[in-house]
Amino acid sequence: MEKKTVWTKYNEKQLAELNTFSEEYRKFITECKTERECTDFIVEELENAGFTELQRAIKAGKKVKAGDKIYAVNKNKGILAFRIGKTPMEEGMNILGAHIDSPRLDVKQNPLYEDGGFAYLDTHYYGGIKKYQWVTIPLAIHGVVVKKDLTTTIIDLGEEENDPVFFISDLLIHLSAEQLEKKASKVIEGEALDIIIGSRPTLSTDAKDSALKAVSGARPTLTKSTKSSAAKNTKKNDEEDGNEKEAVKKSILALLKEYYDMEEEDFLSAELEIVPAGPARDCGFDRSMILGYGHDDRVCAYPSFRALVDAKTISRTACCILVDKEEIGSVGATGMQSLFFENTVAEVLALMGQTSELLLRRCLANSNMLSSDVSSAFDPTYAGSFDKKNVAYLGKGMVLNKFTGARGKSGSNDADAEYLGKLRAVFDKDDVSIQLAELGKVDLGGGGTIAYILAKYGMNVIDCGVAVLNMHAPAEVISKADLYETYRGYLSFVKNM
Ligand code: MN
Ligand code: MN
Repeated sequence: MEKKTVWTKYNEKQLAELNTFSEEYRKFITECKTERECTDFIVEELENAGFTELQRAIKAGKKVKAGDKIYAVNKNKGILAFRIGKTPMEEGMNILGAHIDSPRLDVKQNPLYEDGGFAYLDTHYYGGIKKYQWVTIPLAIHGVVVKKDLTTTIIDLGEEENDPVFFISDLLIHLSAEQLEKKASKVIEGEALDIIIGSRPTLSTDAKDSALKAVSGARPTLTKSTKSSAAKNTKKNDEEDGNEKEAVKKSILALLKEYYDMEEEDFLSAELEIVPAGPARDCGFDRSMILGYGHDDRVCAYPSFRALVDAKTISRTACCILVDKEEIGSVGATGMQSLFFENTVAEVLALMGQTSELLLRRCLANSNMLSSDVSSAFDPTYAGSFDKKNVAYLGKGMVLNKFTGARGKSGSNDADAEYLGKLRAVFDKDDVSIQLAELGKVDLGGGGTIAYILAKYGMNVIDCGVAVLNMHAPAEVISKADLYETYRGYLSFVKNM
């Protein structure tokens, strides 16, 4: 079976829509690089679209009925959104489920140190990365610092044109004879991924002011503290001419105090994520692709929530799941394995006057789900790693993975042929182009998604999303046509399943 390009099938109106949607997505992934940022952005969009927050609805004693829109937030790192349909909940929902965490470097809890005249933040990577890809590129810091009095400061530094950025060093090629003999997995080791955040032992008023200007000019979210302690530290450093022990570290602490009103010990209750700095960009002379950080899995999360909001008519209840922690096994209170999803469905049913456990079980078992996650795209440079007949191609439509897993499908969900048959009919009706694919050649490796977790309820689940080139690299690539086709596919699923 030949897989056809989707680019040639669109009319002018569709091409205009494709461009608009791609641009909206590009802005979304430029702005939202962490699960918290995705959550904040989407909550705002849901509010604008008339969705009511679940706890508010419960407190107000709201009765939920067909046509209503409800959402719930899980610890600022995940969202569930529902549009209640006319069909009884007992008959199940149509669910789109994606994850909003991406591979990155997390700052450790005691991270700050000085060595050789540099101040560093020690990191521990999150998710599957090729460590050598993360050195010598501009990096940004995104996250929160929560102090003991529970005030939260948002840190978002390295994205604006005039922001400072951060980096991880690599050994110069001139001295790399030994390093280059190492295996690629050992060339850069996990403990070598510490980011350089400063090198100046003294801070004159001048330097401090210009640094502060660069930061506060770009970021409205900063909390500024009184200048006294920072000024005092700086003066002391000046007096000792930079030869004080750990003077660079102390200067950085003075700046952190000034910018964020934080002490060193506040790192203990901080979540700081190091991500590639800068915007996602159009890619290619023809602007057919988008190069950017974290397409996995925001390139499926975005069309999932948009399909839920944009679908004009639905009959079955539609649900969009956006979860955290997929990249490390869907664990913890914010991962798909937590009971948050099940509990929230029970709460929504209760607001509909339905509190029977059996009804909840029936609702879940009778649901259909697209596990909206990315798949690998064929890469001609590494052709030998793929089965050409059974891999996804950039620009050839929405990808369905009957199963994922590794080495004999271990750890995989497996979608029934019956479910696939039904989906083919639904997608055909709306002229959605699909390609069935496996990740790569048998026995080379593999991966998982949240699909198998939802499948435990007995519902129909299949992995379905956008093909990505250089998955999990600091800059991943997708085709705008696949993004648009996947959005069309999700809309079709929400309306017609
Ligand atoms: Mn993924
Ligand atoms: Mn992934």
